[in-house]
Amino acid sequence: MNKRTNLLTLLASLGAGSLALLAPAGTAFAAAQPGTGAGTSAGVAAMSAPAASTPQSRAALLAQLEARRAERGLDARLGFAIVNQHPGVKGTQVARVAHTYKNVRIFGSESVVVLDANGRIQSESASERRLGLVKGMPGNAAPGKDFDVTPALTGKAAIDAALASLPALGAGAKHVAQPTAELIIYPVMRSERVAGARDKPEQELNALDVQDVVDHFELAYLVRTRMLVGEQPVYHDTVVGARDGRILDQWNMLQTVVGVGKSQYNGEVPINTTPVDGKYKMIDDSRGTGGTFGALAITNANHGTSAGNVYVNDTNTWGDGKNYIRGGSTTDANGQTAAVNAMWGLMNTYDTLKNVFGWLSLDGKNTSTYIAAHVNTAYDNAYYSDTCRCMFIGDGNSFYSLGSIDVIGHEMGHGVTAATSDLTYSGESGGLNESASDINGEIVEAYARAGGKGETIPLEGNDWVLGKEISKTGTPLRWMYRPSKDGSSPDAWSTSLKRLDVHYSSGPNNRMFYFLSQGSNIDSVGDHYSKYLVRKPAAMTGIGLDKAYRIWFKANTTKFTSSTNYAEARTKMVESAEELFGKGSKEAVAVQRAYAAINVGADIDEVAEQGRE
Ligand SMILES: [Zn+2]
Repeated sequence: MNKRTNLLTLLASLGAGSLALLAPAGTAFAAAQPGTGAGTSAGVAAMSAPAASTPQSRAALLAQLEARRAERGLDARLGFAIVNQHPGVKGTQVARVAHTYKNVRIFGSESVVVLDANGRIQSESASERRLGLVKGMPGNAAPGKDFDVTPALTGKAAIDAALASLPALGAGAKHVAQPTAELIIYPVMRSERVAGARDKPEQELNALDVQDVVDHFELAYLVRTRMLVGEQPVYHDTVVGARDGRILDQWNMLQTVVGVGKSQYNGEVPINTTPVDGKYKMIDDSRGTGGTFGALAITNANHGTSAGNVYVNDTNTWGDGKNYIRGGSTTDANGQTAAVNAMWGLMNTYDTLKNVFGWLSLDGKNTSTYIAAHVNTAYDNAYYSDTCRCMFIGDGNSFYSLGSIDVIGHEMGHGVTAATSDLTYSGESGGLNESASDINGEIVEAYARAGGKGETIPLEGNDWVLGKEISKTGTPLRWMYRPSKDGSSPDAWSTSLKRLDVHYSSGPNNRMFYFLSQGSNIDSVGDHYSKYLVRKPAAMTGIGLDKAYRIWFKANTTKFTSSTNYAEARTKMVESAEELFGKGSKEAVAVQRAYAAINVGADIDEVAEQGRE
């Protein structure tokens, strides 16, 4: 398998602005990747087979959860359904378990459990939204009555209602995947002030002053529609009332890099390809297994809306390093450049996760993914699709080709989030989902710029802005250190955050991550200052990219649930920091300060550490 993998190739440097740090073709990269085979190379702990993947071990996990339920005095009608499992670190594994009532899933109510090598529960992180369903329990909207789970509508009728609610689909609309309707219990949430914050003026509220509580429950269908309208992908999740067909909620599921309304970047780079019948295919069979192409691959959508075929070339030299010229061939040297950008970004995303965490591909199980280049015509976006678990890159019109490394790291970050926390793509959880992708994009950028090898992320090296390379004006899409520079994203949490587009509500968490890794500055007119930091020292101390990302990755993959909001993210990030570095560690303090700096939780003093190195 390894023998067929050919390293090599490519691209003239674009000169100024390209990354001088990248190794020349073939040489340094080949030395840096001694065992690009099979996903078990040196330095990466082998993952054990998931202990909860057999029927017996699944039953054992459910039995443990049911025992815990009984200890808490919960009703037996409240059940559990294992929805997803993936390997964790050091022989552990992580299971995501939906809470059910009379076997119907309760939306956003779930547990993430970490299991040891023997399948025993090590930790459980839960979002609790189920208690009011049971008669006599606090929060029950209809005391004395059981919640009825018999729908009046069929799933088909719910799909029709969801489709009818979408704006002007037109005659050219077609389904990319068949729509689905899942019967769920939908907790309708409302925000409530905690005791002590009732009399605060709105603008003085901190994220910890309010909490999301269940107002009441609706029996509903979660309808997933994945469509193309002309060339435009139109993906939505819609919550339809199962008794009367009302639209209870709806959000856009197209996980893009560009918000609403609106390697030619890396110089000469080595990419992995596969020789087939005297030609070369853009398949990297040293990374990933299974999936659509059996390994990481780049396809040519050739201005269509579907992925198309894997790129093939007569020689193993690809691309011309120049932006795609509109109307030109997608298969000549100029047309291949978008594919080169894509493969470089994909290989680096894969290597960052594998080398640093032992996390294989997007799902942690090494399932291969692919990127389709040249989707649509002059398409000004890139997106991750949850139907193919792959990515599409447009050629851009107001942008250059959307294949910069931070954009690819961003979209592939959606794949990791989808396979783990699956943060719901609306409200505060949607902002955290987008931020997780921005963070991933910047981390991959830093890792690649430092040579793309080794088990740690460099302390710095990324540019802290998203999409600068693809911007024709040089103006980035987003500024992580000062989100408000885009004119739409806030720098801190407020009660209005949940109503913003997810590409803007990501802003405060992006800023948190900047402060956590790089620290803040006391210059109050500068971009790196927070008025919420009121303890000592006045500027908080950062802990570097590597530690910051380890804390974030652990929280997103083992603690966040689909409904995690900013306040809960802070709690779970502190827990992650304490588990990795100890209670009271400077890293745990830095997490608290970084969240305080975006108006989530209170600030605390940094203290001289005792007894630690
Ligand atoms: Zn995104």
